[in-house]
Amino acid sequence: MMLLPGATLGVLGGGQLGRMFTLAARVMGYKVVVLDPDPESPAGQVADIHLKAAYTDATALLHMANLCQAITTEFENVPASSLEMLAQKCFVAPSAEAVGVAQDRLLEKSRAQECGCDTAPFANVEDEGFLVQAWTRIEGPALLKTRRLGYDGKGQARVDNLDDLVTAFDHMGRVPCLLEGMLDLKQEISVVLARNAQGEIAFFPVAENQHRNGILDVSIVPARVPEGTAAKARDMAAHLAEGLGYVGVLAVEFFILTDGRVVFNEMAPRPHNSGHYTLDACATDQFQQQVRALAGLPLGDPRLLSPVVMVNILGDIWQPEPAWDKLLAHPGVQLHLYGKAEARPGRKMGHYNCLAESLEAALTLAHITRSELGIGG
Ligand code: AMP
Repeated sequence: MMLLPGATLGVLGGGQLGRMFTLAARVMGYKVVVLDPDPESPAGQVADIHLKAAYTDATALLHMANLCQAITTEFENVPASSLEMLAQKCFVAPSAEAVGVAQDRLLEKSRAQECGCDTAPFANVEDEGFLVQAWTRIEGPALLKTRRLGYDGKGQARVDNLDDLVTAFDHMGRVPCLLEGMLDLKQEISVVLARNAQGEIAFFPVAENQHRNGILDVSIVPARVPEGTAAKARDMAAHLAEGLGYVGVLAVEFFILTDGRVVFNEMAPRPHNSGHYTLDACATDQFQQQVRALAGLPLGDPRLLSPVVMVNILGDIWQPEPAWDKLLAHPGVQLHLYGKAEARPGRKMGHYNCLAESLEAALTLAHITRSELGIGG
């Protein structure tokens, strides 16, 4: 099946990732239907049709399935049952199964291990009966993470002894958690890849990611890691995609430890913030690739055209509005804003890519512009 321009594609979720998918698809001549309950959602603003309904609304899902030839998702917490319902009527990628694995840290890490990825030591904390056993298994500094609905460092606590663990589990509301051994991190990197239904895989260049307060702050590309390390991460990500029979864009985050080991952290069954650099720095960007994989087209060329540093713009710097004039005075800066009306601390409002002839120059540009905007303090 190949869906050509003129066909209608759907996306569940109307956030910035859905918006950038919608824009890419429309540029290529597709029509786009967005399902999101928020009447002002970033993707809804730019869609051909915006269905304003809950992700579990059977009538809206049926309507969407009738309008679209293929449907994808922009966030992993969409109910798997909604994807299954849609899949009875039209092509859905990634599958409900792949999204279900990514929704749960226990399933995700177990599946990653089965696919040959190294992970941090982990233990399931399904309920309080698991606490002692989990602590005995991990022993030593650890992180307690909620199995579901954790993102940007939310739903995590550091624990240093069994008492800490009991307290942290209480604070989490005693929901199912994962206890994970604390690793000595040197760097964090991610691999964003696309896989189509024919099994073809295209890798975007590995990104080196730096976080602040648990939220991605900058991505540096090419990552400053040995080629062998990047190759190992690509291999693991490919095994995972193949093991899941994955179709679409998949982002896989890895830790590089001080001893050089490459360890799987988590995956996202969709384009990823750490792939936003591709919008301006690659021959094909991650959203065009998402359109291609969904439409059953051959994948585009993911080649890097320029060194790049992506900088996230959070709501923290609105007082009342950032100094866009200063930012846009730099010819190497490409600005992307997501159309969110209300700026809140920690909310992702946009990002910009700093392009330059060398990575060093791109890093300098990122440094200058960040201080002009008041990012990072
Ligand atoms: P996560 O939500 O699992 O990606 O975790 C958020 C951040 O916490 C990561 O980007 C790391 O900086 C840190 N982190 C997570 N897991 C570990 C670990 N096992 N050891 C050390 N740091 C970690």
